[in-house]
Amino acid sequence: MPELPEVETVRRRLAPALDGASIVRAEIDDPRLTRPFDPDAVAAELSGQDVIAVDRRGKYLIFRFESTRALLVHLRMTGSFRVAPQGELPADPHRRAVLKLDNGSDVAYRDVRRFGTWELFDAEELGPHLASRLGPEPLGTFSALDLARRLAPRRAPLKSALLDQRVVAGLGNIYVDEALWHARLHPRRPAGDLDTAETRQLHRAVRHVMRLGIERQGATLRDYSAPDGAAGVMQDEFRAYGRAGEACDRCGTPLDRIVVGGRGTTYCPRCQPGP
Ligand SMILES: [Zn+2]
Repeated sequence: MPELPEVETVRRRLAPALDGASIVRAEIDDPRLTRPFDPDAVAAELSGQDVIAVDRRGKYLIFRFESTRALLVHLRMTGSFRVAPQGELPADPHRRAVLKLDNGSDVAYRDVRRFGTWELFDAEELGPHLASRLGPEPLGTFSALDLARRLAPRRAPLKSALLDQRVVAGLGNIYVDEALWHARLHPRRPAGDLDTAETRQLHRAVRHVMRLGIERQGATLRDYSAPDGAAGVMQDEFRAYGRAGEACDRCGTPLDRIVVGGRGTTYCPRCQPGP
């Protein structure tokens, strides 16, 4: 599932095609994408909209329109975009929607597992909608003190707390495992038990893995690709995620895989001592 760095990479590739363009016609072929709303009704509302920005908040993409409306897109497991000159999109049985732009580009949305969502909002509804679901952006003004305040009341394991988008927005299974490895914290440590030094390490680690992920243009994994099909290389930087049984890059101990809060979790049993 794409996480913040992957979604930011998608945003950066989509923005040049969409910024300043008008949607001449929208086609949505999958009722799951827009439910409970009728896909044809959503497509009709998108047609004629002028795009003024492609933004991101957490793992959401936000297409902002001059009309002040906005389309909130979540890619979930397997959603992806593809931009092509008009009429040149390859046939794709998993295509769910196409935006035909006045600048000669087609923007296609594909989703194999069909968990992705497209939701239209008025400007004044979108802010509160996102604010109730998402904590701070990890690369925004987010401070170690913010993190400490958000973790303090939680008894859940760190792994689960960091997956909660209300604690900090944008992390998923990959970047949580990476951040905990960098911070040398066991994924089962109770979130509220960290001392000040540990919270600072974790804060630094979260920002480090987010920046690195964006720099490497995300990880290329099954089911995720950028709009131009280009591959990110963050997977080459993984220290923990997906590496169970391999030697820890810091101490050489074999990395261990456990399940925390129902999620497969890889960590170093020596560098990240148990609670
Ligand atoms: Zn280690």
